Amino acid sequence: MKATEPLMKLRRSNLSKLRQQSFDVLIVGGGINGAVSAAALAGKGARVALIDRGDIAGLTSMNSSNLAWGGIKYMETWDFALVRKLCVSRNHLMRSFPSTVQEIRFFTTLARGFRYRPRHLFLGAWLYWFIGNCFTRTPRFLGPARIEVEEPIVDTRDAAGGFEYSDAYLHDNDARFVFNFVRTALDRGCVAANYVESLGARREGGWWVLRARDHIDGGPEFEIRARVLINAAGPFVDAHNALTGEPTVHHHALSKGIHLIVKRLVAERRVLAFFADDGRLFFVIPMGNRTCIGTTDTPVNDPGVGVTDEDIEFVLGNINKRLRLGKPLTREDIISTRCGVRPLAVKSEAGKGRDFLNLSRKHAVEMRRETAHISIFGGKLTDCLNVGDEVSSLVRSLGITLPFPAYKWYGEPPAAVRDEFFHQARLLGLDGYTAPESSEPLSTRLWRRYAAEALGLLENIREDPRQAEVLIKGTEYLRCEVAQAARREMITKLEDFLRRRSKIALVERPEDIRRSPGLAEACEILFGDAAADKLAEYFDGVPAHPPASPSF
Ligand SMILES: Cc1cc2nc3c(=O)[nH]c(=O)nc-3n(C[C@H](O)[C@H](O)[C@H](O)COP(=O)(O)OP(=O)(O)OC[C@H]3O[C@@H](n4cnc5c(N)ncnc54)[C@H](O)[C@@H]3O)c2cc1C
Repeated sequence: MKATEPLMKLRRSNLSKLRQQSFDVLIVGGGINGAVSAAALAGKGARVALIDRGDIAGLTSMNSSNLAWGGIKYMETWDFALVRKLCVSRNHLMRSFPSTVQEIRFFTTLARGFRYRPRHLFLGAWLYWFIGNCFTRTPRFLGPARIEVEEPIVDTRDAAGGFEYSDAYLHDNDARFVFNFVRTALDRGCVAANYVESLGARREGGWWVLRARDHIDGGPEFEIRARVLINAAGPFVDAHNALTGEPTVHHHALSKGIHLIVKRLVAERRVLAFFADDGRLFFVIPMGNRTCIGTTDTPVNDPGVGVTDEDIEFVLGNINKRLRLGKPLTREDIISTRCGVRPLAVKSEAGKGRDFLNLSRKHAVEMRRETAHISIFGGKLTDCLNVGDEVSSLVRSLGITLPFPAYKWYGEPPAAVRDEFFHQARLLGLDGYTAPESSEPLSTRLWRRYAAEALGLLENIREDPRQAEVLIKGTEYLRCEVAQAARREMITKLEDFLRRRSKIALVERPEDIRRSPGLAEACEILFGDAAADKLAEYFDGVPAHPPASPSF
């Protein structure tokens, strides 16, 4: 088989189906909201199509803090209903994806003179624990001396004390988590394609007819037909509703947030939490063998944002003030950055006059029955399972038949499949192939990343042990994983692989990736004859995410 074929096959065959078939539901946007909608509806038996004008999870959903959390900070604004909902959603995610969404301790330090005393917040942490059904480990009080002993990197000279509590984090990254929902949807017959933009849609005899443009192969605009249209365009939901003429009660307010990734600062697998100079919670989060620091919360009007000097100074200044680093972190220490805008759901007038940073982080799913149109506003990765369920109920209420309404569309495979995988892995001696710098056994990582599909990888390694070799040095990525990615992960640009299906571009500097001896082979596997072009496209800085069309 020619190496170019996998790439051609999945995306191109889906594109021709988008042109030829008609669908029950068409979803615009492959971020978390679009991805769970696709997985839920396809799982329940609807004929689903999904398009994204960039890559899957190529916008907000690759720039989060990677936390599945109950929103402890919303207790300060007495939004207990939201905290309760998010805690229950967090628990549900942890139960459903035990190897991906894992409990992690938040080691929190408070400065002297902070607006609350440590004992006061410690009581709040207990309340948070109760609101979360006592699902995690209990909170713990930390005096300055204890902080000093347990986490010497924390500068305690100005510390009044602190406390430790639990939430959860995504062990891989957000974009991978989102892609896995799209992959599940594809496995259930969903027709999805990245780099296909919606230019707007019209109603025609009970159908939505959407005008689409393929940003990879070009060609004339084409049409996609569906009974129901779901607008899951994240920060562009309002813009897309303007294109289709859909009035809504909710709209989006936008808030920019950035993170910086630096070398690993904390030995323990825990999040360090502080209150930054602007009084907001500020985290030092583990990311493989690196550390991710952030975030910021800046009101913006336009989703097209980037990391500014001011953002970098804010994050570095805050971290240097709170950690004992020997040598303060500077720009040279930054390995990569993340930047996104939170789409926050507000009712038309309700956001005005409120403290912007305290705008509610609840999602809102709005439906117009007369046009069979659904818009998804706001939300979080944390409550994604609710969004999938809510959207499916609404689609059903619009008269679309869901042959398997009770189908459980999310979660890791049953224990029997898991046991089978680990048994086979043991027989194969898989963990013996674990790279020395790896933070966990190979079997654990492959199961978390691919679940039942990891059994196929064992088969590849059994046939050819070279498949277990790390292909791109320092990244833990095996030859057989790249081959599988080429077949099943709709990798269209090198950035899709380096930044979203894997987190290589987050944890390695561009110059190191470029020098990596295995990169050329990985590109050959992914892109065949087009490998050189795709390499040049990535390193010459051509954006993988095309800019908004002028009509926006
Ligand atoms: C800094 C930051 C930190 C965060 N931290 C957390 C956290 O720790 N935990 C948590 O739960 N949540 C967190 N969030 C919130 C969470 O990331 C977002 O709410 C969520 O990712 C939004 O997903 P979405 O699907 O609505 O939007 P997006 O991910 O933006 O997806 C929308 C998609 O629509 C596509 N699109 C737009 N217009 C078109 C068009 N015309 N045609 C085709 N496609 C189109 C875009 O290309 C995009 O891929 C954070 C957000 C930010 C910014």
